[in-house]
Amino acid sequence: MRLGRRSLLSGALAAAAVHPARAADVDVAVVGAGVAGFAAAHALIGARKNVVVLEARERTGGRVFTNTSIGLPFDEGAPTRPQSGPPALVIDGRELTREEYARYDQVSAELERTLEKLRTQLPGVDPRLAIHGNDPLEKLAVAELLRRVPFAPLAVLPVTEARIPVRVGIRVTGIDSTGSRVRLLTGGGEITARAAIVTVPTGVLAAGGLAFAPGLRPEQQAAVESLPMVQAAKTFVTFSRRVLDVPDDARLVAWTATGTVIEALLRPRGQEAAVLSYRDEEAQQLEANGPMAATAGAVSALTELFGREVRTAFLRGTSTRWGQDPLARGAWTDGPVQARLALATPHDERVLFAGEATDPAGGVAGANMSGQRAAKAALAVLGRS
Ligand SMILES: Cc1cc2nc3c(=O)[nH]c(=O)nc-3n(C[C@H](O)[C@H](O)[C@H](O)COP(=O)(O)OP(=O)(O)OC[C@H]3O[C@@H](n4cnc5c(N)ncnc54)[C@H](O)[C@@H]3O)c2cc1C
Repeated sequence: MRLGRRSLLSGALAAAAVHPARAADVDVAVVGAGVAGFAAAHALIGARKNVVVLEARERTGGRVFTNTSIGLPFDEGAPTRPQSGPPALVIDGRELTREEYARYDQVSAELERTLEKLRTQLPGVDPRLAIHGNDPLEKLAVAELLRRVPFAPLAVLPVTEARIPVRVGIRVTGIDSTGSRVRLLTGGGEITARAAIVTVPTGVLAAGGLAFAPGLRPEQQAAVESLPMVQAAKTFVTFSRRVLDVPDDARLVAWTATGTVIEALLRPRGQEAAVLSYRDEEAQQLEANGPMAATAGAVSALTELFGREVRTAFLRGTSTRWGQDPLARGAWTDGPVQARLALATPHDERVLFAGEATDPAGGVAGANMSGQRAAKAALAVLGRS
């Protein structure tokens, strides 16, 4: 199969070097070394404050992570290169014709308006209960719309900086701001600070992964509960030779003969590989079945589209588990702007929340802005104390 539409990806995320910091008392302690934590720390270091970032994982980046364990780079979370352009659309093994694309665009625009109405008029109701497609083209439009990532493409990704002092492998279990210093409790002892910035995902907060003294205000607790995590998963498969006859970085959404939808990024970075993406229940099921089953499913799906060569050239596969990850519990936050803004208000004056969930834009851009916003608030706290 040949694909006409393609995505153009460029840019790269700089890897963060890790510098252990021994400071037990700092101006600001940042919990989480993802985009938000780095943005906050970067701004505070720029203002010459003494900062430490505490990260539970053995690596930095959070939900921006390129896995190289099977030989080729695979972006498990947000793409580390901006992608542009809509995906190629395929029904029953063939790309849509020019006329079909035109009809698709019309159908899709109408569905998008209906979806928007549903989301504002009936918030919390699963739109799949209300919108269905009649023919495969409409069904594909519904599936593609519901799978869209709700973030504007990034022109440039935030850079994670080598100068930032991060302590990896340190899980914060509690934050006590009842005394003169904010105390951050970890398995390996305690760190004190004049202010703290918490960037952990709402899934972690909702699961009680972090205890607060005093406890969160009811509005903040309610905000956490109204900002659930969306489930999204990706499976990465590599091949020994070229079997996908498509341009580099081609994206496609396909409606197959068996009535399933396949969303894929093909030949990412020009590699002999493919990334298949899944959402909601499909993603949960994929995680529950494990990476071997996910890989087998991806190979079958690609074989259906590109022929038996895919199976014989298959090399290795891996799959994400963001939903089962206790430090994420999902891919990104879904929820109303009011709840995001409520979560963004300071917990106890000196304990500030950042992270994608606390910003109306969400995603990588939102995480970056939230970190900058929290750093400003922390500077104001330091100025007062
Ligand atoms: C599959 C997938 C696809 C995505 N696609 C896009 C996209 O196309 N565009 C887009 O903009 N965004 C996308 N995102 C979302 C984007 O990756 C996130 O919104 C963003 O990276 C969140 O950054 P953050 O700093 O807020 O949180 P995180 O990156 O989650 O950082 C929080 C950090 O806190 C750490 N932590 C958690 N608990 C503790 C604890 N108790 N103590 C210490 N550390 C702790 C975590 O390990 C983590 O490193 C995607 C995400 C996924 C998973």
